[in-house]
Amino acid sequence: MNVFYRIQPNNSEMKILLIVCDGMGDRPCGELGGKTPLEAAYKPNLDRMASEGMCGLVDTIAVGVRPGSDTSHLSLFGYDPREYYTGRGPFEAAGVGMELREGDVAFRVNFGTVDGDLVVTDRRAGRIDDVTELSRAVDGIEIDGIRFTVKAGTGYRAGLVLRGEGVSHMVSDGDSHESGSRVIEVKPLDGTPEAGKTAEAMNKYLIKAHGILGEHQVNRKRIAGGKPPANFILARGAGRMPHIPPMKERYGLKAACVAGAGLYRGVAKAVGMDVYTPEGATGKPNTDVKAKVSKAIELLNSGYDYAFIHVKATDVYGHDGDAKGKMKFIEKVDEALAPVLTLRDTVVAVTADHSTPCSTKNHSGDPVPLLIWSPDLRTDDVKEFGERPCGKGILHRIRGLDLMNELLNLAGRGSIYGA
Ligand code: ZN
Ligand code: ZN
Repeated sequence: MNVFYRIQPNNSEMKILLIVCDGMGDRPCGELGGKTPLEAAYKPNLDRMASEGMCGLVDTIAVGVRPGSDTSHLSLFGYDPREYYTGRGPFEAAGVGMELREGDVAFRVNFGTVDGDLVVTDRRAGRIDDVTELSRAVDGIEIDGIRFTVKAGTGYRAGLVLRGEGVSHMVSDGDSHESGSRVIEVKPLDGTPEAGKTAEAMNKYLIKAHGILGEHQVNRKRIAGGKPPANFILARGAGRMPHIPPMKERYGLKAACVAGAGLYRGVAKAVGMDVYTPEGATGKPNTDVKAKVSKAIELLNSGYDYAFIHVKATDVYGHDGDAKGKMKFIEKVDEALAPVLTLRDTVVAVTADHSTPCSTKNHSGDPVPLLIWSPDLRTDDVKEFGERPCGKGILHRIRGLDLMNELLNLAGRGSIYGA
C-alpha cells in the first residue's frame, strides 16, 4: 500500500497550477478496444497524480451543455460566462495582442478572396501566411464615428475592433462560412439604433476595405504569382468587451498563462493573466509541451501564484476523429508532466475544457475528467486518470465554476463566507 501524502510547506498559502488539455474528454473508441484515448494511453505521471490526489468529473458549463472553448475556460477560471461572455471576438482580438477597452466590440476575422461579384472563392485566401501589411492598410479607418482597428494574427487570421459612441455587438456575421456564396451583409440582431448604426458602419467599412485591399501591392503580387488575393475581410463572432475584474483583484493571485493558440491567450489576458508563449509552443500537434511545463514552473518559482498551461492538440485530434493520434499525444503530454511531480508547494489540477469525442468529431456535453494533486487533501481510491475512473472519485461531479473555489480552498487561499 502506497503512502499518499507529501510534506506540507510552512507557508500555508500554496501556489496553483492548472493544466487544461483542450477537448481531451472522449467516449469509448472501437479502435482502442472500447477505451477512451485517455484511458488507453500509457501515462504513468497522470496515473500517479490521480492515485495520490483526488478525482472527479467536471461539467464546465452545465450538465449536458456542449461548451465552446472560450466559455469553458472562463468557467474554469471562475468567471461565469453568462455574465462575461457575448461572443468570441474580443478574446480572439486580445489574443493577437490588441488592447481592448470596456465597451469595445470585436470580431474575429479571416482575410479571404472574393471575385468581382463579391462571391467568396477562398475563405482563407490560399492560406496566406502573413496579413500584417494588409491589416495595416485597412487599420485606423473611421466611419460614422466608429473607429476600425485591425491587427494581424497567425496566417490569414486577424482581429477587428470597433470603438465609438453607441457601438453594439448585436450584429450578425459578415461571413457565410462557405465558399461559393456571396459575402453577406452584416445585419442588426435587435431593434436598437446602436445595432442599426453598427451594422451600417460595418458594411461601409468592409466595402471600403475591399477597395483598398484590391489595389494593394501585396495582392497585386499574389495575383501576378497565380495566388488568390486576400481582398475581403470575413468577420464573425461579434462580442462586446465586458468589464472583467482581474484575477489579482478577485482572488489575490498573480497569474500567468502559458499557451500557444490565440483564443486562450486572449481569454487569459482578459481575466488579467500575464501571457507567455515559449518557443516551440505552437498550439498544434507539434507543440513543445515540455517547454510549456518548464516555463510554467519557472513562473511559479519567480513570483507568480497561479499558472495556467493550455494544450490544444488533444482537441485537434478529436475533431479529426483520430483516436490513436489523440492517445499518443496524451502520452506526450504525460511525459512532459514529469517535472510537475517534483513541485512541493503547489496545488496541481489537470482537466479539459470539454470533450471532443473522436466518434462525433465535435465538442460534446460529456463531462471531463479532473484530478487535483496536492499535499493536503482527501485522497480517494482512483488509481488511474480517465473518464470512467474519475467518475468514481471523491470530487464526484462539479461545475467548471466550482473548480476555482476548490483550488483556492486547497491552496489555503479561500476566504470565509460569513463569520
Ligand atoms: Zn476547447
Ligand atoms: Zn474544438
